[in-house]
Amino acid sequence: MLDPRKITASPNLPTLPVVAIKLLELSKNPDCEVKDLVALIKTDPAICAKILKAVNSTVFGFSSKVSSIDRAVPLLGTTGVTSLALSFSLVQGAMSSGAMAQFYSAYWLQSVVQATATDKLGRLTPSGLGCELFLTGLLIDIGRLAMLKTIPGEYAAVLKTAEESQRNLHDIEIEQLGFSHVQIGCDLMRQWGLPEPLIHACLLHHATREEIAAVSDTADYALVQAAALGSSVGDYFGGTNQGLALARLRELTAAFYGFDEVRLETFLIEMKGHIDEAAAMFSVNTSDLGDPADLMARANDQLAQMAVREHVASTQAICRQKLVEEENRELESLNEQLQQQVMHDPLTRIFNRSFFDQALEKEVQRCRRSAQPLGILFIDVDRFKSLNDTYGHQFGDLVLKRVAAQLGDVVRGADTVARYGGEEFVVLVNQPTESGIQRLAERIRARVETLEISNDAESVRVTVSVGAALTIPRRDDAQVGAELIAAADQAMYEAKHGGRNQTRFKPLGEEHELKLVNLATQRRFSRWLVSLGVLEMTAVANALAEYAGDHVQIGQLAIRHGVLTAEQVSLVLGEQQQGAKRFGETAVGLEYLDEQQLIALLALQKEDPRALAAVLIRHGALDVAAGRDLMNRYMAECGVRGEKSRLQSALA
Ligand code: GH3
Ligand code: MG
Ligand code: MG
Repeated sequence: MLDPRKITASPNLPTLPVVAIKLLELSKNPDCEVKDLVALIKTDPAICAKILKAVNSTVFGFSSKVSSIDRAVPLLGTTGVTSLALSFSLVQGAMSSGAMAQFYSAYWLQSVVQATATDKLGRLTPSGLGCELFLTGLLIDIGRLAMLKTIPGEYAAVLKTAEESQRNLHDIEIEQLGFSHVQIGCDLMRQWGLPEPLIHACLLHHATREEIAAVSDTADYALVQAAALGSSVGDYFGGTNQGLALARLRELTAAFYGFDEVRLETFLIEMKGHIDEAAAMFSVNTSDLGDPADLMARANDQLAQMAVREHVASTQAICRQKLVEEENRELESLNEQLQQQVMHDPLTRIFNRSFFDQALEKEVQRCRRSAQPLGILFIDVDRFKSLNDTYGHQFGDLVLKRVAAQLGDVVRGADTVARYGGEEFVVLVNQPTESGIQRLAERIRARVETLEISNDAESVRVTVSVGAALTIPRRDDAQVGAELIAAADQAMYEAKHGGRNQTRFKPLGEEHELKLVNLATQRRFSRWLVSLGVLEMTAVANALAEYAGDHVQIGQLAIRHGVLTAEQVSLVLGEQQQGAKRFGETAVGLEYLDEQQLIALLALQKEDPRALAAVLIRHGALDVAAGRDLMNRYMAECGVRGEKSRLQSALA
């Protein structure tokens, strides 16, 4: 991008004759009198003659003949005389016979058109504006002249693009240079000290209707409106896209001057005659200007083409969008299919071994952290080989599908059923208990036994042998997953050896520990409530489904309930570092806790009475007073001190 200062500071800018510079200075002096201006202009006979010619042309519309500069100056006013002198100087600057000649003459012709149109339009409203209208129109594109003079190569490229693409010159300038002739023109006008209203009009001559309307309460509004429209007339007669110019003319003349289509057309036809008169004053050749009727036809044609192009472009965009959406949908469903394939067994549609391995690993980690029991079932179809041999492989496949479906049906939603291999299945049991996992194994065995799988006329029955294994992983127990699978497999083989269609259970780890966990399970608040006959099993189960207690370390629980001091807990933790023992075991070993207290703490760890009571109260199974009372009784029976106030406030 170019630095616009390269233009406004360039030595190639159009230079002003001495008289113009002095006129500018004089016009800024509030004490300036007409006689001073006259005296100054008289020093340049060429300018003098041109000003007289202008005053007498129809352009400014003075009725009687003006024969001396002494009379012309007061008629034109300080700004008028100054701007006119400046314009005549610029004509000189705008004459070029080199390679850029056509661009200069196009620029200058368009400026004269703009001046004429600004003048005619500005006089439609009683704004009191006079010759400054014409001069404003003549100067608003001065930035274009400046760029032709200072960056001819770059600017010729801009003009060429505008011409070829039939787009607005103003837009192409910004795209290719980073600024437009509007900015350059305003900078130059300020540099020359031209009057503020002129700069204001230049600033807004390519502005939108809304931007122009935003200055409606300023004194320059009439001039700004006329110049913006004058600029569009210039684009209409000499710009690169008649269609765009016509659209803007329609919008702005309707908004600013109440023109309808007919009035606009008449105005444009009349313009042609006015332009010829003004062109004579500035020695400009208007033979390049098109016939108004031709121009109108061309402009309408361009507008129609633009509408078609826009329609085509938006239709294409919609098609592209649809295509992209469709591709995305296909990708998503492919992705889903892949996910299915990665995780599922294609024959039985339950999870595959690789998914199970991952699920087990995650569960091992969770249970290691929270000292929760971990359980799996190993299920093997009995004498499957002979089924295959007798009824065929396809029937064997059907059996696998039916057994898999039964497994999915029997287990709870939180359990994970997977095909482990051939005719072997596994279940990762969620939050198992010693009795629970054995009951589940039995339920599965019994369910499969009742299955009748029909093969042609015959109905075939199958059985399974089930091995169950349960453990509470120690923190340092890295192999626990593999050990558990091996134990369940072992239990399953024991079931086979026992005569098949049986279940076997193999608890891993220390029996003592499992017993503790079992006892703690019995002591949970939910069990206690049911055993007391206060609540039905279903009410408790409903509450447990919503229960969301946090997992709290045993040591923290012991401190919270006043069973251990913080000091004792840190001593236990220190001792624990030495071996692989659990916190509870260590604390009992150190005689800080007795077994009953540990069981109570384990029960509290499994189920926070506060959280469960809150759900029961919300469900309406208990009222607040009963909830509080039951909790206190439970805590007292647990043998831990409890924090009545905290629990009570939590309930309240
Ligand atoms: P047991 O009671 O001791 O388990 O005897 P079994 O015949 O069930 O066990 P064995 O391991 O001897 O045979 C399992 C058979 O399962 C062998 C294999 O061909 C078959 N098999 C493995 N995968 C598939 C399968 O996807 N479809 C079918 N139809 N058969 C399979
Ligand atoms: Mg088998
Ligand atoms: Mg087998």
